[in-house]
Amino acid sequence: MTRRSGARRIGILGGTFDPVHIGHLRGALEVTEMLALDELRLVPNARPPHRDTPHSSSQDRLAMVRLAVQDVPQLTLESLRSELAADDQLFLLMGWDAFCGLPGWHRWEELLEHCHILVLQRPDAGSEAPEALRDMLAARSVADPQALEGSCGQISFVWQAPLGVSATRIRQSLASGRSVRFLVPDAVLAYINAHGLYRASN
Ligand code: ATP
Repeated sequence: MTRRSGARRIGILGGTFDPVHIGHLRGALEVTEMLALDELRLVPNARPPHRDTPHSSSQDRLAMVRLAVQDVPQLTLESLRSELAADDQLFLLMGWDAFCGLPGWHRWEELLEHCHILVLQRPDAGSEAPEALRDMLAARSVADPQALEGSCGQISFVWQAPLGVSATRIRQSLASGRSVRFLVPDAVLAYINAHGLYRASN
């Protein structure tokens, strides 16, 4: 892979993180290692326009992401990217389900003018890409994520260790009194318990 000197390689994983879990964190770390990213930024959405209102507040979701990345130097919590240089390579990470929802995003067709897209496979996701994405996939897909070139414009797929974990299932388990230990970092679990998040009465 050609790399201009000085250009950084930065991954971005946006999400509701309601709560952040090992599916997010493993995918993030594996992509960071596979593509030798300089850093990977977790970007929590305050109020995502394209989905339901989150169950916990943006402050709680931010606090949980902060706790989840506190001992992982490659993963950082970020607001956004104004300080990036024009030739920095940006990799936007999305789970397959989020990628399939792309046509519902505002100005989605312009996204590849700003970054590459890395799609993380999820074992609990369906397999058919929506019709609206087929042309873009045919024109922009690169089989090997390590062959992505330039600062933007291509799509590739990452087969990280499959973890059929979702925030929805974590919330459901908590609401019915089941343990979510090992599905979220211990520090995040302690925060959820201390703040009584996702209990049936919330
Ligand atoms: P919910 O169940 O509430 O919809 P979620 O578990 O999908 O939440 P999000 O915060 O919506 O979590 O996800 C942020 C991003 O991480 C999305 O692109 C999503 O597809 C991806 N993602 C979430 N869980 C996994 C997983 N287990 N494996 C791979 N990607 C994942």
